[in-house]
Amino acid sequence: CGIVGYIGRQDAAPVVLEGLTRLEHRGYDSAGVAVLSGRGIRVAKRAGRVRELNDALPKRFGGTTGIGHTRWATHGPATDANAHPHADESGRVAVVHNGIIDNSAALRAGLVDAGVRLASDTDTEVLAHLVARSDADSLEGKVRDALGAVVGTYGLAVLHADFPDRIVVARNGSPLVVGVGDKEMYVASDLAAIVRHTTTVAMLDDGEMATVTESGFTTMRHSDLASTGKTASQVDID
Ligand code: GLU
Repeated sequence: CGIVGYIGRQDAAPVVLEGLTRLEHRGYDSAGVAVLSGRGIRVAKRAGRVRELNDALPKRFGGTTGIGHTRWATHGPATDANAHPHADESGRVAVVHNGIIDNSAALRAGLVDAGVRLASDTDTEVLAHLVARSDADSLEGKVRDALGAVVGTYGLAVLHADFPDRIVVARNGSPLVVGVGDKEMYVASDLAAIVRHTTTVAMLDDGEMATVTESGFTTMRHSDLASTGKTASQVDID
C-alpha cells in the first residue's frame, strides 16, 4: 500500500515512520520498518497502526538507511508475520512491496522444494528469497534476477546488508518516486510522504529500477540494467 525509504545521515526510522503517517489516509492494516547499519539489518513490524509500531520500536533501532511499509493485505491475513518488510533466512535482505505477485504460489512451492523455510503467507516474501539466492555480484543484478522470475505488479524497495550504501527500488504498475535532498535521498510510493523534505523528484516508469545512495540516484531498466538516464526535476505543490 505505502512505501517510504530514506538514506542519508539522519536516523532513518523516525523519518520513515513520519512519512508513513502521511499515507495513512489511504488505509492499511499493518506497518513495518527495516534499518540498515554496520550491524546489519533490523526489522520491526506488526499488524496495526504506525503509531503502535513506533511505540513498540526496539531500543537502539539505529541506522541511517531504512525502508518502511504500510500493508493492505492481498495474500495472507493481517498478522505480524505477514507485515512488511520481508527478509530472507539470513536476515541480510529486506523487501517492501506494493502490488501483487501473480505467480507467487509456484515460486513459494519452488523455494520450499529448495529447502527454504517461508516465514509468512504473503506473495511478497518470495522477492526477499529470490534476491538473496541470486548469484549476481551487484544488488541491481540480484533484483534483476528476482524480477525476471516474477509476474505481477510492484513498487518495491530493497535493502541488502552486503550493499550498505544503497536502496534499490523498482516499479511495474505501482508508483515509485525518488526524492533528492542535500546529502540525503528519499523514496516513496507517493510524493505526499516526502514532500516536506524535498520537491526535487524523479518518478519511475514501469520497467524501471533505481539505485539510490545518499548522494544521488541512477535509473535503469530492470530487465537488463541498461541506463535510462532519468534526472530529477522540481515539482509544483499547491
Ligand atoms: N501483496 C502484498 C501483500 O499482501 C502487498 C500488499 C500491499 O500493496 O500493501 O502483502
